[in-house]
Amino acid sequence: MHYLVEKLLSDSNLTDLRSPDLQDWQGFLCAMDKVYQQIDQDRDLQQRNFSRTSEEMQSSYENLKNSFENRQSAILKAFPDLMFLINEEGSYLQVLAENKQDLCLPVQQLLGNTLNETLPADKALYFMNSIAKALQTNELQVLEYELTVQSGKENFEGRVIPAGYTVDGKKTVLYLARNITTRQKTDRQQKLLNSVMASATEGIVIVRADKKVLYVNSAIEKVTGYSEHELLNEGEGFLRHELDRALCDEVCTEAYQSDHFKRQIVIHSKTGEKTDILLSMDALRGEHNEIEYFVGMLTDITEITLSQQRLQHLATHDVLTGLPNRLMFQERVSQVISRSIRNKQKGAVMFLDLDRFKTINDSLGHSIGDKLLIEVARRLQAVCRAEDTVARFGGDEFVILVEDIEQVATVYQVAKKILHIFDKQFHVQGYEFKITTSMGISLFPSHGKHAEELIKQADAAMYEAKNLGRNCYQLFADEYLESAIAGLTLENEIQNALSDNQFKLYFQPQYDLSEKKVSGFEALIRWHHPQHGIIAPASFIQVAESTGQIVEIGLWVFSEVCKKIVEWNDRNLAFGQLSFNLSQRQLMDVNLAAKLISIMNKTGAIENAHKIECEITESLIIKQMDVALNTLSKLKEAGLKLAIDDFGTGHSSLVNLKRFPLDRLKIDIEFVRDIGKDQNDEAIIKATIALAEGFGLEVVAEGVEKTIQLEFLKSVGCHQVQGYLIGKPVESEQVENLLYKNACFNL
Ligand code: C2E
Ligand code: CA
Ligand code: CA
Repeated sequence: MHYLVEKLLSDSNLTDLRSPDLQDWQGFLCAMDKVYQQIDQDRDLQQRNFSRTSEEMQSSYENLKNSFENRQSAILKAFPDLMFLINEEGSYLQVLAENKQDLCLPVQQLLGNTLNETLPADKALYFMNSIAKALQTNELQVLEYELTVQSGKENFEGRVIPAGYTVDGKKTVLYLARNITTRQKTDRQQKLLNSVMASATEGIVIVRADKKVLYVNSAIEKVTGYSEHELLNEGEGFLRHELDRALCDEVCTEAYQSDHFKRQIVIHSKTGEKTDILLSMDALRGEHNEIEYFVGMLTDITEITLSQQRLQHLATHDVLTGLPNRLMFQERVSQVISRSIRNKQKGAVMFLDLDRFKTINDSLGHSIGDKLLIEVARRLQAVCRAEDTVARFGGDEFVILVEDIEQVATVYQVAKKILHIFDKQFHVQGYEFKITTSMGISLFPSHGKHAEELIKQADAAMYEAKNLGRNCYQLFADEYLESAIAGLTLENEIQNALSDNQFKLYFQPQYDLSEKKVSGFEALIRWHHPQHGIIAPASFIQVAESTGQIVEIGLWVFSEVCKKIVEWNDRNLAFGQLSFNLSQRQLMDVNLAAKLISIMNKTGAIENAHKIECEITESLIIKQMDVALNTLSKLKEAGLKLAIDDFGTGHSSLVNLKRFPLDRLKIDIEFVRDIGKDQNDEAIIKATIALAEGFGLEVVAEGVEKTIQLEFLKSVGCHQVQGYLIGKPVESEQVENLLYKNACFNL
């Protein structure tokens, strides 16, 4: 039976063959139909199966191939390298290059050609040698070279590997080349950056947003004391000292909030030492604008801060004594005043000027003067309360600010205490000094509410204290201000007069009563003021004394005197002798004799030193007994004559004066004036002349204006006379005239 019929029968469950009855025929036919349909379907299926599989295989093969090729080209595309298949003779067999610019020629011109034909000779040789070596050793060859390609001169790294198969019977190599120009540049930049970071004196940190330290340079250890290792691996935060934890958080928070932090801060180094640093932090944001890192720079500014402080100290303090200077004092006063106005408290500004300090300075030298000032500063600080401010304004001026005073009486107590610190002698370099101070006081708020005003007032009151005889204090009163300003202007003007040669010497003749001729002149200073005309010495000598300017004036006078001596001598004028006046200040200078002798030597007057007479007032000699004796003896030794000026006013005994090597006495004008009216004065003159003769001194009477005076003086044996009766002081040009007229004098 046909297998199909068999299948049909089994599928229709008709395994036992019997003839179907008519009722089942219909069913049989239907079943037969189904079987045939099924058979068709099966065959179809089977046929389709066969044909589908081969198509699918074809297509999946295609797919596979495509995806492989795509992948390969994608890989090659992503691959930055150039790939060449080259045979042992140097022919290009295959060229794969994503970046064609890195080829020396377009691919088409390479394929089929050789290295020798496409490359500079040296390069071609270099590659051929490498290819030969790779083939010979079967090892990778690495080359580095520069080559001009289509994009210009570039640097490459080449790798030659034997390909392991032959083409047309020739061995092949795979040649991979990579453009490393950019990498080399970045490498160089990275190296540079590293060395910059390493050599930076600033500490540099990179911190993650979670405060973990990512990077530090080596300088960080110098700035913070913590090593790179400690900062990178232990704990968090770049400020490690436990005292700086909060600060570190604060810095990061601020940088977090405003992207930037820059401030001078004080941190603790690992050893706990405080370090001033300038910290600048910048936040770095990522792609999504979230803060990723902080970059911080830590500059150690301890040195800068110190030198700033030093500068600040220099600007506000007196270098010599270390006391606050005027600037700082004014600032202090301003602060204290505004506070005391609030608290309704009082205070005082005390202005001190040492008495006769300039003389010590001029005569003994600045180094002794400086030491004396330092000691004064020390004593002043010791006597003042810690809250009071003792300042030095330069020179011998000290100013004290006394705070919180309840009543003026307290100010006086303080002032007295300050005067007392001068009671004790000062010892400097073997010298002993007794110095005093004059003090002016202004009160706040009653005298003023501004620092400058108060200082000016205290200064004015100090001048008044000087006028009152020094070594005392004086409270400010308005009228002092004017006299102080007058004094100040005069001081400036005297200085101008000195530099502008406004001083002139006048000469007043002296007449010898027994020889009946002019026996000498007294040199007297006049000030030819450009605005005020001729000013007599009475108007400025005292101020010049108090400012110390008399020292300079005196030296000018003496050198003029010397010049005249030489000039008159050269012109054979019979002028007799020439006297000059020495002031108290000048006499205090221990070097005075040396200075005068040096002037005489310079001018040549030394040869006629015996024609120069030095006048010193009686009171002056007594006050400065020791210094004066020393100086005058030296002058005497040098040949000068000495006279006592204004004799009779100083109440000294002649016995006292006898210790001095004197030549002459000048009877003061006071006694001469009342001759003929006051018998007392006449008696004094008589006695003086008698005594002087006993000591071998000559006597000259000053201020002789009237004949009656002259007659009396003649009668009592006075040797010489000086006064308007004989002649007023004249300028040097008239001296000659006067000497000619001498013959006419018949006194
Ligand atoms: P002195 O040394 O007692 O000088 C004498 C003063 O009396 C001079 O005043 C003179 O002009 C004045 N005189 C002279 N004859 C008469 C007279 O007959 N009647 C009146 N009423 N006065 C007369 P002068 O020049 O104004 O000097 C005043 C004082 O200034 C001097 O007093 C002296 O102490 C000082 N002086 C003058 N020149 C200098 C100087 O170069 N150096 C210093 N340190 N002091 C000087
Ligand atoms: Ca005189
Ligand atoms: Ca005199």
